[in-house]
Amino acid sequence: MTLKIGVIGTGAIGKDHIRRIRRNLTGARIVAVTDVNAEQAHGVVQGEGIEARVYDTGLDLINAPEVDAIIVASWGPTHEEFVLAAIAAGKPVLCEKPLAVTAEGCRRIVDAEIAAGRSLVQVGFMRRYDRSYRQLKKVLTDGAIGAPLTLNCAHRAPEAPGFSGDMALTDSCVHEYDVLRWLLDDDYVSAQVIMPRSCHLGEQEGYQDPHVILLRTRQGVHISIESFVNCQYGYDIQCHVTGEKGIASLPEPASVHLRLEAKSSDGILVDWKDRFVDAFDVEFQEWINATARGEMDGPSAWDGYVVALTADACVKAKYSGLIEPISLPECPAFYGR
Ligand code: NAP
Repeated sequence: MTLKIGVIGTGAIGKDHIRRIRRNLTGARIVAVTDVNAEQAHGVVQGEGIEARVYDTGLDLINAPEVDAIIVASWGPTHEEFVLAAIAAGKPVLCEKPLAVTAEGCRRIVDAEIAAGRSLVQVGFMRRYDRSYRQLKKVLTDGAIGAPLTLNCAHRAPEAPGFSGDMALTDSCVHEYDVLRWLLDDDYVSAQVIMPRSCHLGEQEGYQDPHVILLRTRQGVHISIESFVNCQYGYDIQCHVTGEKGIASLPEPASVHLRLEAKSSDGILVDWKDRFVDAFDVEFQEWINATARGEMDGPSAWDGYVVALTADACVKAKYSGLIEPISLPECPAFYGR
């Protein structure tokens, strides 16, 4: 069976997903696209040489009879409406982060999915599909280093064009919040945000970068995340877990080691897309496969909701200077945790 997919949003990442489904993946084809910029949508259809109908609106695409499943890759504030419409239409949907721009919006999606009685929603937290994170998770799950005690992580990007306000906490660090609770199979109970001396390369007066985010989990694991989105030198994702018996570190992306001109060096990636290109491919192939089987086994709407609550707590902690509690409601049995 070939899964017939409709894509909402043909901007940067929507275009990438269309290309990867067309060129790299199996079991699916793009049959419909839409974007508020119709010219861009037509351009992507032509450029990729796909036979896809261009719809006027996301709602038209969701309800189109030829569309089996939906990818939401439009602007964040549109996600909630499109995901709710997909649930109402009974169609599986993979929504890029954020699931919704508020925790209340995420909760509405959770409630709608439970009311529909079918798992339909997956959130685009692609780090769970990254080979190195999966290797690290296996080491932790196998108990090789004993119980995890502390995690020291870094999310560093060379620059963050368009970033303002608290986007480091609410936009890029959402990947950390998701992948770390998945790695540990645990949930957060509190957040604190430390603001060190700020670099002078942010876009606005008073812009804070880096942030240090301290999270504590239910099992008492202490997590420290350095978020530094104007670090200049490269795109560098680090995660080191100290356990009772040893330390497990996220493998570095492979690069040719050079001994050259009196130096010994390894390359560091610069673009986040290069770091996670394979993870996106695996994420979408696994979603296609599961959807074709009538299943949904990736990051759920509940995970999207928990991440939104965590981001809210981090923003609150940044301004209060306090350790802020993260009070998660009981996970509904529907989500099986
Ligand atoms: P983008 O380049 O701005 O693309 C978004 C597209 O959606 C634009 O073409 C935009 O049109 C269109 N759009 C806005 N409202 C729409 C509507 N109501 N119906 C249909 N199309 C609409 O942004 P992007 O970088 O691709 O990001 C898209 C989403 O993916 C964001 O939520 C972002 O957070 C997420 N993302 C996730 C990752 C990841 O690591 N998983 C990475 C990058 C992005 P206009 O430009 O004309 O407004």
